[in-house]
Amino acid sequence: MNTLYFDNNATTRVLPQVLEAMLPWFSEHYGNASSSHQMGQRAKEAIIAARANVASFLNASPAEIIFTSGATESNHTTIMSALATNPTRRRIVTSNVEHSSTLRLLDYLTTTGIEVIKIPVNQNGELNMAMLTEAVTEDTALVTLMHANNETGVIFPIAKAAAIAHDKGALFHTDAAQTAGKISLDVRQLGCNLLSFSGHKLHAPKGVGVLYARKGLTVKPMIYGHQERSRRGGTENQTGIVGLGVACQLAQQHLTEHPKSIAALRNRLEQDIAASLPFARINGAGPRVPNTTSICFAGLHGEELLHRLDQAGIMASQGSACTAGGTDPSHVLLAMGLSREDALSSIRFSLSKETTEDEVNTVIKTVVNLATAMRSAAAA
Ligand code: PMP
Repeated sequence: MNTLYFDNNATTRVLPQVLEAMLPWFSEHYGNASSSHQMGQRAKEAIIAARANVASFLNASPAEIIFTSGATESNHTTIMSALATNPTRRRIVTSNVEHSSTLRLLDYLTTTGIEVIKIPVNQNGELNMAMLTEAVTEDTALVTLMHANNETGVIFPIAKAAAIAHDKGALFHTDAAQTAGKISLDVRQLGCNLLSFSGHKLHAPKGVGVLYARKGLTVKPMIYGHQERSRRGGTENQTGIVGLGVACQLAQQHLTEHPKSIAALRNRLEQDIAASLPFARINGAGPRVPNTTSICFAGLHGEELLHRLDQAGIMASQGSACTAGGTDPSHVLLAMGLSREDALSSIRFSLSKETTEDEVNTVIKTVVNLATAMRSAAAA
């Protein structure tokens, strides 16, 4: 059975060119970049080259790039550093649809006396900018907002939000885990002080990521050590960093050469499903990343549809956390005003630059057949 992978917001395949670039660094050039001998220096040079690639991918300068283990660590470093370097500011402003790597840490910090304000979204998943403006005060250390939502793909107006933060002297961070590789990123245009992303969302391996920190900003490390200009200790993930450098180059190339190809496939997936299934609705509207669609199959049990798709070789996901007692509805969809039932009826399909038209055709046909059969069975 062919595997149709439509879960690229969870993680992506490491591209052959990325793997090929990484391989020599495992067992041929395995020196430690901190060693002064030839092998060490060779490793150091490869990291310098990867850093230059990542910097160019973000329109940043190399010294502004900190390699981490991924977006979770980058988000954590940002939040803890913003509080430590602004000890008189005790408020953090965020949204109520952020990734759990942000929300869980912020929930913990509220128990230590930090004030966390979560700005709501409307039914389209758009941020309430008036409430954001009101929430950011002289007491705000940091405004942290995701660039695009991992479940719906809805893009927040980051440059506007950054201006609101800066107006009150607060730092601004964006979690770009779901935009890196999908739309062009330019830290100058975004106006952020800090930005996070993970390699494995753009065809690099898991366990490597980036924290961009604007020149002049003090970053208090979470992990101490001399590496990464003392902003992130620990021997560098040499292979991962080399892979990430190549993945960023390839992503940039694809965005330049085929800016609309993924959106065209995603749009057709949405249109054809909506045309055949009157009970299917798209979650989220306005600007969205081109690869993501979240579809509510009203009246259907999403987990069951997902399971049947899996049996048919189609891998998609439900943006929700499984708990011992079953599945929790997605906090993102609930925040957008969906009922518990509609949230549990929703499924996310996320494409990549490797997704083909044939695959999309198969997914449309299979989804329509399965959902129609489940609907008739429910009505019988
Ligand atoms: N932020 C967002 C928006 C994400 O989608 C993810 C991954 N699902 C993360 C942060 C965390 O990334 P990682 O697990 O690679 O640290």
